[in-house]
Amino acid sequence: MSNAFPYEISEHEIYRYLGYRGQIPDQVVLERIRVCLRQLQEQVHPQAIWKYYDIQWIDTASFNVEGSVIHSRQLSKNINGCKEICLFAATLGPEPDRLIQKAEISAISDAVLFQAISAAMIESYCNAMNQRIREEMSAQGKYLRPRFSPGYGDFALDYQRMIGQFLQMSKTIGITLTDSLLMMPSKSVTAVIGISEENNQCTMEGCEVCNRSDSCLYQRIK
Ligand code: SF4
Repeated sequence: MSNAFPYEISEHEIYRYLGYRGQIPDQVVLERIRVCLRQLQEQVHPQAIWKYYDIQWIDTASFNVEGSVIHSRQLSKNINGCKEICLFAATLGPEPDRLIQKAEISAISDAVLFQAISAAMIESYCNAMNQRIREEMSAQGKYLRPRFSPGYGDFALDYQRMIGQFLQMSKTIGITLTDSLLMMPSKSVTAVIGISEENNQCTMEGCEVCNRSDSCLYQRIK
């Protein structure tokens, strides 16, 4: 069977999503994780889309992008000094939701495992796509800040709708929004990525694991 997901998945991220704080699950759970992971790897269809936009600062907490104003103090802090952003969206497709729904009827413990594993998979996929964006930008002598998603800090979830329209994400990669602004398929991400001419050597996995966060002016607050 083919592996539709050739990206490295952090086992420790899976354990963290399962609520294991630094411990390793027992053999029975590890075996179920392996079985569920293989099913997901064989069935998911990851897709991503991103586009670059110039921005015009209005003040220290808001900026204009193609006629739309984004107001968020914490996002603005994270992309302070940037003149450009990348709007990004990614999804694993509907398969994880289907596997979770099916397991909720037949084996609830597998449903919990599918949830945790697919949460780690979408993060790993976003990191892999982020690496491609980083390469595209470094070819132009530009550098990325860590991705900042609607719902982080004071960056309102409403901006999912604006990002979705700019990227046409329902047509391009099949992500739609519920009335309460949740993304369907559920294993999906949208984000703004600041593009800087200054190299802060940002850690792809984000400020939470960055060893410069204590003194960094741009540290993101989730
Ligand atoms: S804390 Fe690290 S990853 Fe976050 S913005 Fe600063 S340098 Fe970049």
